[in-house]
Amino acid sequence: MINNNIPDNPYLLMTPGPLSTSKGVRNAMLQDWCTWDDDYNVGIVQNIRQRLVRTATEDVETYSSVLMQGSGSFGVEACLGTAVPAGGKLLIVSNGAYGRRMVQIAERLKIHYVNLDCEETQAPSLHEINQLLEKDGDITHVAVVHCETTTGILNPLQEIAQLVRQYDKVLIVDAMSSFGGIPMDVSSMGMDFMISSSNKCIQGVPGFSFVIAKKEQLLKSKGNARSLVLDLADQWEQMEPSGKWRYTSPTHVVRAFYQALNELEEEGGVGARYQRYKQNHRILIEGMASLGFKTLLSEELQSPIITSFLFPDRNFNFGIFYQKVKQRGFVLYPGKISKADTFRIGNIGEIYPEDIRRLIGTLSDCL
Ligand SMILES: *Cc1c(COP(=O)(O)O)cnc(C)c1O
Repeated sequence: MINNNIPDNPYLLMTPGPLSTSKGVRNAMLQDWCTWDDDYNVGIVQNIRQRLVRTATEDVETYSSVLMQGSGSFGVEACLGTAVPAGGKLLIVSNGAYGRRMVQIAERLKIHYVNLDCEETQAPSLHEINQLLEKDGDITHVAVVHCETTTGILNPLQEIAQLVRQYDKVLIVDAMSSFGGIPMDVSSMGMDFMISSSNKCIQGVPGFSFVIAKKEQLLKSKGNARSLVLDLADQWEQMEPSGKWRYTSPTHVVRAFYQALNELEEEGGVGARYQRYKQNHRILIEGMASLGFKTLLSEELQSPIITSFLFPDRNFNFGIFYQKVKQRGFVLYPGKISKADTFRIGNIGEIYPEDIRRLIGTLSDCL
């Protein structure tokens, strides 16, 4: 039931989230829900949790899901702080800001860790990961980012996961910006914990993160958490039987997310969404090339989620360009790396090939 009074957005967000959402998703936020009523808990929350597991794996018996208030980083902090016990040691593989954020979290929570910090424009070295796992027998957990939104690089998760399995370590994956947009099965890759959030490829609005995890690992991590509100094991223990969150949940966001999952299914699931994102991305890259823009990353490293483009020349003023483009209906995303002058364009969300074609025309007019 779409309310025809839902206004159009004044501009499309060409960003990796919060992103442009559908009218259906925005419409879903017009009703209030009671946090202790069954319509909400059993009807919506439990349904979302089951569908998330089904979206993540065929092995629905082994895995469960936990929703956690806050943006994606709250989920990452909850997961690291709950999964790694006091006597554990975490290997953090980083090649961008989100990997480094996990290092900050480990520092702050006083989690015993080692960081393999890699070049931002390259895939992490499997050889170096192997060496570290071989020589440091204290390592119990490994954390890695799937799509590093910093640059748009898609890290070789399959290969990294295989190594982690080989050494029998617990694998934690930040798949924030890829889950729902790139097909993956958490079970076949042997992921123990996978973290994402409401406002990325599922195309909901910001407000909560979620973790898909092996039930066995959630049970095992009980009592580990360094925080009360970010205790993932406690949150799961309460949510699993009843759908209840421990503290006030973002009800409107949850209802919008439920609608976003319906729309993901209507589109044909993650496989179909992946095809749309890939098509968006191909049109973007070709169009940008025709305007003279070069990508930061080589093609084989590039995700179909977000792309970093180098400034065309030294005199390019991104601030002015940004404002001109925004006035014409598109919001771009600034760059996030220090070694090169870049800006980013995301192509996920309620964005279609015709939007990308319009974007290219607009950018051409604004240059
Ligand atoms: C968006 C994102 C996060 C979470 O960032 P928030 O600012 O907390 O939403 C974490 N990791 C990656 C790879 C992301 O893209």
